[in-house]
Amino acid sequence: MNITRRGFLTLSAIAGLGVGTLGFSKRLIDLVPLSNRGRKALHPVYGNSNTPEWLRDANSGELMPNPQWTLHHTVDLQCHSECGLRVKIDRKTGRIQRIIGNPYHPNTLSEYTSVSTPLIDTARLPGTVCARGNTGIQTTYDPYRVLVPLKRVGPRGSGQWKPISWDTLIAEVTEGGKIFADTDDPASKNLDILGFRGLYAKRNDPMDTSAPELGQRTNGFVLQGGRLVGTRMTFAERFTHTFGSVNEFDHVNECELSHHIAHQHVYSGINMTQPDIREAKFIIYWGTQPGDANFPMQTQGKFAAEARAKPNGLKYVVVDPKLSRGGVVGDRASWLPIKPGTDGAMAMAMIRWIIDNQRYNAPYLSYPTLAAAQAMGDLSHTDATHLVIVDPRHAQARSFLTAELAGLGKPQAQGEDDRVVIDAATAKPAKAANVKAAQLDFAGEVNGIAVKSSFRLLKEAAEEHTIEQYAAICGIEPQRIVEVAREFTSHGRRAVSTMYRGVVKHPNGYYNGVAVLLLNLLVGNMNWTGGLTAGGGGYPVKKGRYDIESVPEAEGLAKGVIINREKFHYEDTSEYKAQVAAGENPYPPKRPWFPLSSNMYTETVPSAIQRYPYGVDILMWHKATPLYSVPGQGNPEIIEAVKNPKNIPLIIASDIVVGDSSMYADYILPDASFLESYDLVDTFPTTLTKGTGVRWPAVSLTSKTPDGRHICMEEFFIDVAKRIGMPGYGAKGIPDADGKFWPLNRREDFYLKNVANLAYAKGVEGDAVPDASAQEIAITALDDYHTKFAASIKPDEWPKVMGCLVRGGRFQPHTGSRKGDQLAYQYTKRLHFYAEKTGTTRNSMNGEFFHGTTRWVEPATALGKPLDKLDDPKDWPLTIITMKGALQSHSRLVSNYTLREINPNNGVHMAAEDAKRMGIANGDWIWVVTPEGKRRGRAVVLEGIRPGVILFEVGYGHWGYGASNYQVGGKRVQGDAVRRAGIHLNPIMRRDPDVWQMSLMDLTGGSVVFYNTKARLEKETSHA
Ligand code: SF4
Repeated sequence: MNITRRGFLTLSAIAGLGVGTLGFSKRLIDLVPLSNRGRKALHPVYGNSNTPEWLRDANSGELMPNPQWTLHHTVDLQCHSECGLRVKIDRKTGRIQRIIGNPYHPNTLSEYTSVSTPLIDTARLPGTVCARGNTGIQTTYDPYRVLVPLKRVGPRGSGQWKPISWDTLIAEVTEGGKIFADTDDPASKNLDILGFRGLYAKRNDPMDTSAPELGQRTNGFVLQGGRLVGTRMTFAERFTHTFGSVNEFDHVNECELSHHIAHQHVYSGINMTQPDIREAKFIIYWGTQPGDANFPMQTQGKFAAEARAKPNGLKYVVVDPKLSRGGVVGDRASWLPIKPGTDGAMAMAMIRWIIDNQRYNAPYLSYPTLAAAQAMGDLSHTDATHLVIVDPRHAQARSFLTAELAGLGKPQAQGEDDRVVIDAATAKPAKAANVKAAQLDFAGEVNGIAVKSSFRLLKEAAEEHTIEQYAAICGIEPQRIVEVAREFTSHGRRAVSTMYRGVVKHPNGYYNGVAVLLLNLLVGNMNWTGGLTAGGGGYPVKKGRYDIESVPEAEGLAKGVIINREKFHYEDTSEYKAQVAAGENPYPPKRPWFPLSSNMYTETVPSAIQRYPYGVDILMWHKATPLYSVPGQGNPEIIEAVKNPKNIPLIIASDIVVGDSSMYADYILPDASFLESYDLVDTFPTTLTKGTGVRWPAVSLTSKTPDGRHICMEEFFIDVAKRIGMPGYGAKGIPDADGKFWPLNRREDFYLKNVANLAYAKGVEGDAVPDASAQEIAITALDDYHTKFAASIKPDEWPKVMGCLVRGGRFQPHTGSRKGDQLAYQYTKRLHFYAEKTGTTRNSMNGEFFHGTTRWVEPATALGKPLDKLDDPKDWPLTIITMKGALQSHSRLVSNYTLREINPNNGVHMAAEDAKRMGIANGDWIWVVTPEGKRRGRAVVLEGIRPGVILFEVGYGHWGYGASNYQVGGKRVQGDAVRRAGIHLNPIMRRDPDVWQMSLMDLTGGSVVFYNTKARLEKETSHA
């Protein structure tokens, strides 16, 4: 990449805008650092580097803050690890100069700094961030930032925009009418658009009188969030629900949903567990590796490196088609290059060997209740001994046998544990609650009902294939599988099986995920030092001093089926019932239903276009780019459908740029970048203590509303809500604990109350955040901030709230992680071998029940066609997988030019063995051809990838986000070739042949499929 050329292009973009483009003129600021490059250095030794944050008295050695800088602790969003940041801001210019780690935050230091430590004392031990964290400045100061509202003036996607005022934006989208009469678009000029006011007026009208389950018309507002977490999610949810819509969700089925659902079904409702990496002796990383995308990426990498370096420390195995940067060398780590999507086969082979060889923790598995386990000094319990009804004719088939059905009496109290086991002492059925130890492997009859224990069901599922057959499926030698199983069962409680998206982004992802997780139950590692943990969690921040969540006057308004047909059984719909009543076969419906899943983001756009189960009036994308990120969705047919306003009449994008999807919106609402935003986000389970980080604006770049607020998603919702008279906004906004209402007129009215809840939440030893000192207030420039927003919380709350802002959150000291061989925070709900909810739920496409006991399931389409029969391996010999690299994990990082300088192009990674056979050399131009299309890229030939697999790193090959030209106010904004560079294969990923514009899907767990597209390569013989 040529910096000079890029600088020139940026300059052209700026110069091309001219007068009248309002916020775009701010880009001129960004030319300064670029033009510094190549200039004579300011200092012979330190070059052009900044002065340090701290100054040291030469005589006393005492440290003092450098008055040139403001320091600001906030939370990153360059990836979802949400690490704490220390942002260094020039006090004179207000410009951010540097980002490092916040030493108070657990992600940034193994032994992070106690919140009781004064800020000045953290000078010598700053925390770490990764390269992406470092370059976050470039996301905020991206020369392509949209800082004023934009409205399209041509047809959707024409790339013609005009800047509009805040008041115009709010008035047009709220009042609706012929708001596109001023455009040159024949398709929408005469359309009468239903704005927020018109739609809100229909909040008591049914969506469809023949289908009451669909709720009311206000479900026609859909907020599709690409990245909405923490209490920013709460803010968005509060607006959506108060408006009367259930349609507010994040992108989770894109990234890892089946991972969450598999967890929920094994670990009673939680989405994630993690190993206690630093004390573990053996970890199997499935579909991920230390230092790869995981939570938190940099912390996991650091912990694994530390643990591996200890004498007799951690050993680990990476099971993944690609050897990434986990440093897998030597005798402490190894790599098993598994075939994509077959992790479940290898895990089932291990389960079979462990059961056959009785290497499981039998005493632990025999405890039927927590009380029984704790009586024997254990820390958790499973349902291994609980009996499941296996007679398919029984009315409660596939459910757990209850005491009443077993003839052991009715429950005495509501919610009583009424599971039944075979008492090991008497060999007779008994209530689990009355038994100390139960029989593990049981099949027989109880009270005339055929039952089997959960453990027995798993054993039988594992026995469906031999170890050799499993080995043939997954492509790993049987002997190697046995070696891993032996090692895994050789470290007591200090062995962990952990996974991320590589295991689950397949049609069989849920079953793969459950199999991988069940290995943990077999050794009983939950809550033990060096074992598995659900983490310390976060503080309660939605309630306490203030209730930031509820709007009592709107309670119950939002109801009905979510547009993505999630968390709802097809069999409960009017559509299904009508077909059954008419004697018709109700299967399959037009599109699948996802009763076990949520956040089915990838289904939103095609469902809206097909109006199934209903149409959408207003679609709002927030940081969302479905056309770029959803496998198969960036194809010409769906883009044409999105461009037609008759399909979705109003599209508003809350975005920081004209992005790959927001380029097809009607309006772009300039959102705050992460360095300009608020949010409260909890730490991940990798952190064994309690912690909640506070993101708050280090800078504010978007233009202002007429009354001086910086434009962003929150101010948009507040102003729309106030204009149409929604409760919960304006003077009667947020209630405090005494029932007194406080105004909600700006985002600080919400988030500062949120921080007050955090500051005053009930704590544990050593986690009380001190009041901010005068010196800390000066270092962080909080005096001005306090003056500006003083009325948002009670005066007496400010010192402690500022204490939290100074530290970027509240975190329990790391010394509270463990108590000897036990973890301090213990997860004590039941762990499940058998997922009753799954086993009693039907697949909406064929009416068959899902499997309550996991097993090896061949990947298939929604109607059950095996993928190998869909695309013959003879014609399509390769499988595409993706990678989130350390330098480019998300699409939005394309604006981080420093990262692009390191790796300007991703290329198509392929195995040296395949390349040799095909006559392809490193750097050759090749075509990747799939059944959906073809894309051109450079070959990257490697040893560290399984033959038969090709891989591309996500985040390259943009068409929006500054990659292509567009116009604002008649002036051209020149796209940058740097952003177009590289290959992006999502648009040619395999779609399901039987459902219009649906990616391949995991119908059980809900994940979209990223790793099962078949392909072939064609070498380009000539290249102009
Ligand atoms: S892992 Fe890196 S990019 Fe992700 S939040 Fe942490 S510092 Fe930021």
